[in-house]
Amino acid sequence: MQLHRIRTPADQARPVLVDRQARVVRYLRISLTDRCNLRCTYCMPDGGIDHVPRDELLSYEEVVEIAKSFVAWGVERVRLTGGEPTVRRDLPELVARLSALELAPEARRPGRTHLQVAMTTNAERLPELARPLFDAGLRHLNISLDTLERERFAQIARRDVLPRVLEGIDAARAAGFEDIKINSVAVRGFNDDEFGALCRFAWARGATPRFIEVMPMAAGRLYVPGELIGAAEIRDRIAAQLGGSWEAETLEVGREGRGYGPARYWRANSAEGAKGGSMAKQRRFGVISPMTENFCDSCNRLRISATGQLQACLARDDAGDLKSALRAGGPTALEGVVRRVLGAKQDRHGFEENGAGGPQKAMISIGG
Ligand code: SAM
Ligand code: SF4
Repeated sequence: MQLHRIRTPADQARPVLVDRQARVVRYLRISLTDRCNLRCTYCMPDGGIDHVPRDELLSYEEVVEIAKSFVAWGVERVRLTGGEPTVRRDLPELVARLSALELAPEARRPGRTHLQVAMTTNAERLPELARPLFDAGLRHLNISLDTLERERFAQIARRDVLPRVLEGIDAARAAGFEDIKINSVAVRGFNDDEFGALCRFAWARGATPRFIEVMPMAAGRLYVPGELIGAAEIRDRIAAQLGGSWEAETLEVGREGRGYGPARYWRANSAEGAKGGSMAKQRRFGVISPMTENFCDSCNRLRISATGQLQACLARDDAGDLKSALRAGGPTALEGVVRRVLGAKQDRHGFEENGAGGPQKAMISIGG
């Protein structure tokens, strides 16, 4: 990093997280566990993984301490992920503590004074947890759903729980969540005939569908040239399955078609939108394309594994040990680790450089 000093009337010398390419880190993804109630084939290696012992996981106390430091350095949003974050006990308690953290003065906006807490989940535990999580302050949900067909679901997730997942999505809506994204990994020959149906499913529930290119995690286990469905093909398939024409959205917060995160959004073109009334307005989808149209130049995030390893990039294995620093030296010891990891953040991911494979770590170990 450079822990740059910025000057504002509110605070004369507050450090913010800026890397060598002048990308500002505003977003932190925190994995709470490497365990999961599902076994998705693209995420969990065939032989499973060696789960870390529970005492090596960050405690909630430690997660909050670390989050506090990052908030002081300008982070505005955290996303809880995993593994499956809902398998951690008393999750609403953690959400409540994180949601109560006040943003640094320069990160505040009208109506936004506290840390935004988001979560990525497979939704299987949402029938019971959606309401307690909402009541604790969680407002943003990314729900993973690759198929609407029960047999296919059981095949890719290695668990026959689609009805529970659908129930979980309904429970989230009933609890009051308004920002729900339905994320589907695009897998050739598996769900590429369902992209349009997944869009319709999401729109009918006031949610935004998004499609993710498969990343070759865990020693390239999944890297098969030609297997990847790239962003352009995803868009073509959606247009073919749904009809109509689609245009890239321009959003205020990002570059053309990009929002706060890495997705690029497309919507039904406005002439057709006018015809379709309010439903047509919701007709938008996102594509997350790390492989064919990468978004590294606008990367605004750092990742923390469930064991407190700070990582600058999903595609690389180097990390800094926040947990040991915190346990040995308290919160003041965190800055050195962050400085080193952010200072070494590369300008792009390098999945291709790795040739036949991506990083050694499995997606389930770092949280996507
Ligand atoms: N268990 C939660 C879930 O499934 O939403 C959170 C963790 S999961 C690792 C986070 C996201 O990563 C999910 O949307 C999942 O589909 C995605 N993912 C997992 N492995 C992937 C891979 N190899 N390529 C692209 N996305 C992947
Ligand atoms: Fe579990 Fe999510 Fe990975 Fe599926 S994608 S195995 S639900 S962590």
